[in-house]
Amino acid sequence: MHSISYERARDVAHAVELGSSPGSKFIGGGTNLLDLYKSGIERPTRLVDVSRLALNTVEELPDGSLRIGAMASNTLAANHPLVRQRYRLLSEAILNGASAQLRNMATIGGNLLQRTRCYYFTDPTFRSCNKREPGSGCAAIDGFNRIHAILGASESCIATNPSDMAVALVALDATVRLAGPDGERSVPIGDFHRLPGDTPQFDTVIKQGELITAVDLPPSSFGAHSHYLKVRDRASYAFALVSVAAALDLQGGTVRDLRLVLGGVAHKPWRAEEAENMLRGHALTPELMARAAAAAVAGARPHTHNAFKIELAQRAVVRALQVAGKSAGEGKGGAV
Ligand code: SF4
Repeated sequence: MHSISYERARDVAHAVELGSSPGSKFIGGGTNLLDLYKSGIERPTRLVDVSRLALNTVEELPDGSLRIGAMASNTLAANHPLVRQRYRLLSEAILNGASAQLRNMATIGGNLLQRTRCYYFTDPTFRSCNKREPGSGCAAIDGFNRIHAILGASESCIATNPSDMAVALVALDATVRLAGPDGERSVPIGDFHRLPGDTPQFDTVIKQGELITAVDLPPSSFGAHSHYLKVRDRASYAFALVSVAAALDLQGGTVRDLRLVLGGVAHKPWRAEEAENMLRGHALTPELMARAAAAAVAGARPHTHNAFKIELAQRAVVRALQVAGKSAGEGKGGAV
């Protein structure tokens, strides 16, 4: 029998102290951790409950940034008036991410730490999974890999990151604030999740005992022209086969600045910087968008069942750019 202790943290310092012991795991909403615990994939020896810490607010900082507490629910963040007004991309991504029931429970911090939905990872009857058991192999590489990565994968792991929210946060240049045994630090969201390399057991750069306390969003010039496009097998809450966060700063039809980030294609949100460079300073013509979309998937390495993602991602990039390029609230939806 697996024994486990439960302790409720009084404050952040107490949480860090409790969470620093090997085998400790923080629990907020528990929407992913409890599933993995029940199936034997996560085996913490101590659960540190951080759900009641005073980290559940959304506040504007003096420099105009927005700070979303790590314990804020996904619902609260997605529906907060300042998020909806200034960071509609984030609201769209979160609302695309899960059912209302899950969004009510799931926290912002937990969303960033959710684990891959690779079938071979979530089903312990499959023995080969380097992410679950380092050195055991990767059942997905020669198995059914329709949902897996086409970019940035390794010989050890071809899993994708499942978070919609993280894709939007990369497009919005967010920063993750952490408190840990060595003090506080901030990590740009683009550096927070990792590529698998030969250590796919680590999804992020977070260390034992470090607690996400908040996500900071800098003032954004992308508020009027952005779109989160998610392509999935069914409309009723499935994980992304491909998603695109397109955020544009337009001036008279010219792209002054932009972010283009793909989800569902890699072990982390995949920022398409080469494509951004092609579009910056130009009008969004069909030809240029098509070339940028091709650049966004440059270097893609498909596996047996997921080559379709290369074409799908390009179509999604073009569609997301088209919708983002229209005025706020216009032209949503449509075929990919
Ligand atoms: Fe495990 Fe990664 Fe391979 Fe999936 S892709 S089986 S998570 S090692």
